[in-house]
Amino acid sequence: MTAPRVRFAPSPTGSLHVGGARTALYNWLFARRHGGTFILRIEDTDVERSRRELTDQILHAMRWLGLDWDEGPFFQSERSPLYREAADRLLAEGKAYRAFETPEELDAIKKAGEAAGSAFRYDGRARAIPKEEADRRAAAGEKFVLRLRVPDETLVVDDVVQGKAEFPAGALDDFVLVRSDGHPLYHFTVCVDDVAMGITHVIRGVDHLPNAPKHVALFRALGAPSPVFAHLGMILGADGKKLSKRHGAAGVEEFEAQGVLPEALDNFIALLGWSPGGDRERMSLAEMVALFSLERLGPSPSRFDHEKLAWMNGQYLQEIPAERLVALLKPFGVPDCDADVLVRAALLHRSRARTLVELAQSLAIYGADPATFDEADLRKFGKPGIAPLVRELAERLSATEPFAHAALEEAARALAAEKGIKLGELAQPARLALTGVLASPPLFEMIEVLGRETTRRRLLAFADRIADRVKEPGASAPAVPLKDS
Ligand code: GLU
Repeated sequence: MTAPRVRFAPSPTGSLHVGGARTALYNWLFARRHGGTFILRIEDTDVERSRRELTDQILHAMRWLGLDWDEGPFFQSERSPLYREAADRLLAEGKAYRAFETPEELDAIKKAGEAAGSAFRYDGRARAIPKEEADRRAAAGEKFVLRLRVPDETLVVDDVVQGKAEFPAGALDDFVLVRSDGHPLYHFTVCVDDVAMGITHVIRGVDHLPNAPKHVALFRALGAPSPVFAHLGMILGADGKKLSKRHGAAGVEEFEAQGVLPEALDNFIALLGWSPGGDRERMSLAEMVALFSLERLGPSPSRFDHEKLAWMNGQYLQEIPAERLVALLKPFGVPDCDADVLVRAALLHRSRARTLVELAQSLAIYGADPATFDEADLRKFGKPGIAPLVRELAERLSATEPFAHAALEEAARALAAEKGIKLGELAQPARLALTGVLASPPLFEMIEVLGRETTRRRLLAFADRIADRVKEPGASAPAVPLKDS
């Protein structure tokens, strides 16, 4: 294969969503796999709906996903001369013609069609206007649109994913290329650009498949071969309906804000319609490049499973080098503690987190002592009677040398054994005292990271807090005293 030239051509009328990101990713993978060129083209001819901030967001999202482009971004809004030139050429060659129907006349055609039970179809009546007459009417200022003279032949869309489809002569009407105000329309600009940019493969969502015959007709008129088409299967939500906002986050920047890692999102999105073979799932961009092929794209829809993405993100979180992990966490807010504590805490807590947001939240305990406790937790693990035991634990732990998890656990076990209780009876109140909640990473590893002083301070404060509970209204009845306290 000669080096392919592919493009990602988003319309900046919305931010980059999962479907667009997948299109970009597949084009990028294909280009990188074959030493080709990946072009970024911003299709902003819809002036009312296109917004510069959305273009910036799309570019940001692509950079974030690691999808660098080789040419562009090209803005269709800056390429009007090219479209005008192509329109003039098609007109001069007789491949397009001017049609002068007024909106009222078109409406009448539409109504007649509806009466006959068919959708709007332009009947090609302006084809018959002699060139000189059309020139004269245009020169006199009469309004016209430019329509493609769709060839009277079968049009073949040969799609490597969806298969081959034939459209018999007459299947398409002579569609509009340029509006009466001179504004070039979508199908026209896409094809003019694809030809000008030497695009060899068009990889895009299946929602564009109905456009493909029009594009085939246009490529033919423009005197260029059709590129290879690959229309990607739809992406559905968990309920089997087309993926949308209703299904939760669907925009790349939303996932970024949730603390999803770009490599996890790339990996996850890559599998929505492509399979590298076998049951291989986890892949870096470089590995995907080595394995990517259009032949392994599937035509059927894929389901976007948020749970699976969270799981995959959690897997990626476990492997990030410490320094990068901390850097990634910073935008989500990190506790005000020693840099060393932060690194150790992040490494300790990450096995329980699935996103950077979750991880950042779990690290808050390294910045501030717990301020409140859940009443139900206190009823269970904060009975006033155990205050002395918690105090004793504080003293034992703070006297432990070295202040490392194995020695700390040994000290706690020894205390539990002396009191004739199970370690858990000490561990749960300690966990609550230290974190404010009952779920935490392995207790003694966490205590090691929290450090001697913090551990002692929190345990003692907790002991005071629960000892006072006897006086609090709503506190449970006096606890059963512990065996030998
Ligand atoms: N601009 C179109 C879109 O955002 C893509 C056109 C194409 O890929 O041919 O859906």
